[in-house]
Amino acid sequence: MAAVNTVLVIGGGFSGMAAAIALRKAGIAVDLVEIDPNWRPEGAGITINGASLRAFETLGVFDEIAKRGFVSSGVELCAPTGQAIGEIPTPRVAGSDVPGGGGIMRTDLSRILADATRASGVNVRTGCTYQRLDDRGDSVEAVFTDGTRGAYDLVVGADGVRSKLRETFYPEVAPPQYIGQVVWRAVLPRPEAIVRPRMWMGGAVKVGVNPVSATHMYMFVTEARSEKSQPDRAAWPDLLAAMLEPYPDPLLQSLIPRLYDKEAAIDYRPLANLLVPAPWNRGRIVLIGDTVHATTPHLASGAGIGVESGIVLGEEVGRARTIQDALDRFHARRWDRCRMVIQNSERLCRIEMENGDKAEHARIMRESIIALAAPI
Ligand SMILES: Cc1cc2nc3c(=O)[nH]c(=O)nc-3n(C[C@H](O)[C@H](O)[C@H](O)COP(=O)(O)OP(=O)(O)OC[C@H]3O[C@@H](n4cnc5c(N)ncnc54)[C@H](O)[C@@H]3O)c2cc1C
Repeated sequence: MAAVNTVLVIGGGFSGMAAAIALRKAGIAVDLVEIDPNWRPEGAGITINGASLRAFETLGVFDEIAKRGFVSSGVELCAPTGQAIGEIPTPRVAGSDVPGGGGIMRTDLSRILADATRASGVNVRTGCTYQRLDDRGDSVEAVFTDGTRGAYDLVVGADGVRSKLRETFYPEVAPPQYIGQVVWRAVLPRPEAIVRPRMWMGGAVKVGVNPVSATHMYMFVTEARSEKSQPDRAAWPDLLAAMLEPYPDPLLQSLIPRLYDKEAAIDYRPLANLLVPAPWNRGRIVLIGDTVHATTPHLASGAGIGVESGIVLGEEVGRARTIQDALDRFHARRWDRCRMVIQNSERLCRIEMENGDKAEHARIMRESIIALAAPI
């Protein structure tokens, strides 16, 4: 008999949904509870690098992502004037006919994965969470907020960076600390010239855009700030416009009036990261995704490594004869890769904040892109 026949997934973000689909592929019965009745992610667009595209292809959702999002290869670099200064190649990690990266609106990606989760046969309950988990050694008893109960061979916790599960099972782990940099994001109409990610280098802040559909792109601006406190919302378009003012590129300047449109949906996010020391399980309860490995976005890899963790967990649980075997193999395949992404992203962030060594920044980017392309 298989070691695991029934799994409860807590949290229907990208990581939880990936785990649920991968576990179903292995023939395991999966219940998923998501606390948000509307099952909608926060935030604007998201960058999908080559490794993340490979993970989405494994889940069978690449075609939908290509249809609703925007896929392309390479990242264009230019000076604040708009003059082209180079290109970062993005390897075709998912195969020669799949581009090296892309972008998509978070709500679209979430909808695509939610459809795939339901289609795979996962029993999804939204607006519902656990009230109590009791690991009895041979199974975990769960009591839910809708009054129902269940018994599971394994519980997968993917309730995000503000995780209640982490607080309960890893009380010694401090909550993520503000790193000293914030990211501003906005959704804007895509000028025809923007056909792949583009970044403007050499100014006081880092500015970039990435197409997320045939018609739109998202803009990100990273800014060093000693305080993470949120400025008055009404001032956000003015603050963002002021940060773009020193960039004379006519394309960037033409975007400034659009920041005042409601559709720009400007978002302000102080950055933090977190790496919980392995093992990420306490008995039969295992945590994945931002719950235990949350990164700053400098390698655009947070969602990607969460989805990979879900896939690897599904594969190992599906083939192991004991839960311990499955979890040992899971940790062996995930620890170094997640640590690399978090540490390299943090280093890139600190170099940007300190206006540090550009050559080191370029080297870390290059090494990380190569490491991410390695098989998982
Ligand atoms: C500014 C910024 C930009 C980023 N850009 C990128 C990018 O370009 N590319 C990239 O790959 N990554 C990016 N990331 C990282 C990415 O957003 C996260 O890594 C990813 O969303 C993590 O997914 P998750 O499923 O682990 O957690 P989450 O997305 O946080 O999902 C957790 C889910 O659990 C639910 N939940 C919470 N509590 C409970 C509970 N008690 N019971 C049941 N459900 C619960 C939540 O409602 C949510 O649906 C970025 C992050 C930031 C902060």
